[in-house]
Amino acid sequence: MLKTDLHMHTTYSDGRYTPTELIELAHSKELQVISITDHDSINAYKEAFEAAKDYNIELITGLEISTDIEDTEVHLLAYFVDTKGEELNKYLDFFREERFQRAKRIVKKLQNLGLKITIDDVMDLAKNSAIGRPHIASTLLELKLVSNFYQAFDLYLGNNAPAYERKIHVSAQSALKLISDAGGLSFIAHPGGMDEYILTKLIKAGVDGIEVLHPSHSRYQIKFYRGIVNQYCLLESGGSDFHGGDKGDDVNFGKYYISSAKIEAMKKMLV
Ligand code: AMP
Ligand code: ZN
Ligand code: FE
Ligand code: FE
Repeated sequence: MLKTDLHMHTTYSDGRYTPTELIELAHSKELQVISITDHDSINAYKEAFEAAKDYNIELITGLEISTDIEDTEVHLLAYFVDTKGEELNKYLDFFREERFQRAKRIVKKLQNLGLKITIDDVMDLAKNSAIGRPHIASTLLELKLVSNFYQAFDLYLGNNAPAYERKIHVSAQSALKLISDAGGLSFIAHPGGMDEYILTKLIKAGVDGIEVLHPSHSRYQIKFYRGIVNQYCLLESGGSDFHGGDKGDDVNFGKYYISSAKIEAMKKMLV
């Protein structure tokens, strides 16, 4: 059986490792099929394809898209997308710029709270990645304005904290269309605890599958979502959601994998 992990992040979003480093690590964990699913970015793929060849790893294109459905943030995973797709790239460029503008608004709020941080500090750290709150948290930590990464969210960046700014609203429905137009398959990422009403809406909207295996899911949840997958004839995905350096990351990488039969089922839906 080929070990398959379809959820991980690189420095092109909020992961700690470059695509090459990540693939080296995946190889050392005996993963044979992987998908890099950076948040709102496919920029890792140029480098990643080269590295995957060197390590004889099958690399499935992917990304994790932040969407909204009735004011709930829902992450959708997309696999097998054409990374050259014009509409997809146009959307990602747009979203990247929106993330940058949002980061500027967050930094402004932090400054108003009296913190000595600039957007350049954040950009120095974020470099070419799709900029998000984790980059700002790391910058605050580097500037010694917080004592740890999580404190940055508790005090400033968390959903109910004073420097919170929401991302622009992208409907789940439009993201699903974007994914299928790019030739890909869509999955609800880590649905653990998701309102059943939202889950049903996504299934009705035509999502192709559900990420059943995820470190945040209990055994009960895994069974529950597998039941939903079977009931609605959906596809099943899973992975570690590895970022590098997060709680549990070292243990999870190489341990959260799905069977290659699941990949074969996905590939059948592509043709
Ligand atoms: P963004 O897409 O910029 O809104 O950032 C979302 C990311 O920030 C999530 O994927 C998490 O990695 C991280 N995050 C959000 N809330 C927290 C929190 N309370 N503690 C730690 N990390 C968080
Ligand atoms: Zn992430
Ligand atoms: Fe996510
Ligand atoms: Fe993720």
